[in-house]
Amino acid sequence: MTNIRKVTVLGTGVLGSQIAFQTAYCGFEVTAYDISDEALATARKRFTGWAAAYRADNYPGAAEGQADATIDKIKLTTDLAEAAADADLVIEAVPEVPEIKTSTYEKLAQVAPEHTIFATNSSTLLPSSFMDATGRPDKFLALHFANHIWRLNTAEVMGTDKTDPAVYDTVVEFAEEIKMVPIKVLKEQPGYVLNSLLVPFLNAGAGLLVGGVADAETIDKTWRIATGAPLGPFQIFDVVGLNTAYNITSANPAPAAQAFAKLLKEEYIDKGKLGRETGEGFYKYN
Ligand code: NAD
Repeated sequence: MTNIRKVTVLGTGVLGSQIAFQTAYCGFEVTAYDISDEALATARKRFTGWAAAYRADNYPGAAEGQADATIDKIKLTTDLAEAAADADLVIEAVPEVPEIKTSTYEKLAQVAPEHTIFATNSSTLLPSSFMDATGRPDKFLALHFANHIWRLNTAEVMGTDKTDPAVYDTVVEFAEEIKMVPIKVLKEQPGYVLNSLLVPFLNAGAGLLVGGVADAETIDKTWRIATGAPLGPFQIFDVVGLNTAYNITSANPAPAAQAFAKLLKEEYIDKGKLGRETGEGFYKYN
């Protein structure tokens, strides 16, 4: 068992709210910090939504009231010093904007106790870009969750060459304590393990579609039948959400990526078809 008891989560958006909820669900003392009362009010609504999702998914303990009880256990604050005051671990899930992350770490470094470990949930930015701002590169690393963390429960743990191996091991153990499957990433890699596999795969599917080689259903069917995988690339796009797919694809200057971005925007996003969450994307859902 680790010495981590008190965990602070910075940013209570899509991922931060899930990290705070799952960590509190697993019995840790959790404080969630965001920049405004409006953001914290949204966080409260998100927690209620996660409790319902745990119940709907029959997550162990949820039917016995543990999910609803978790909502009020999470302390919410807009005061960073209060949030960090006696944290053993701070997990940062603020927007994926380098300037916001850097300034968050600079402020956090002033107020967090010396022993506190900092972890970033960044999807695309390497932890070494922020290690100097943390003032404690030896106690800093990435701990990267997947959306819907209670179900899709990988936690990629990736240090820099300055991360203390003992800190790394502690965070791996903590990930297990909050019911994640820790994925040990042994060196810095943009996209960690998961997105290093997934992004080229999805791009290949998109290329086949916009190149007119096969339609989305045929591409998915081929992948499912021939590999035994449960989902093909376009079913995965629907899970990820077509807005996110568009944001990533439109930033890629390759002609096939630009053609796919145009298709996503004109045929799906502009028509309100954003994937599973809205009931329709490449496929229709109940
Ligand atoms: P989000 O936009 O849903 O949430 C960001 C939250 O941070 C908001 O509540 C916002 O009010 C708050 N915020 C803004 N400025 C802040 C500041 N200075 N200090 C503290 N909080 C601030 O974003 P998200 O999707 O939850 O992503 C957060 C991080 O998690 C990013 O680094 C992202 O790469 C990573 N991530 C996201 C996903 C995903 O599927 N959404 C998956 C894995 C990792």
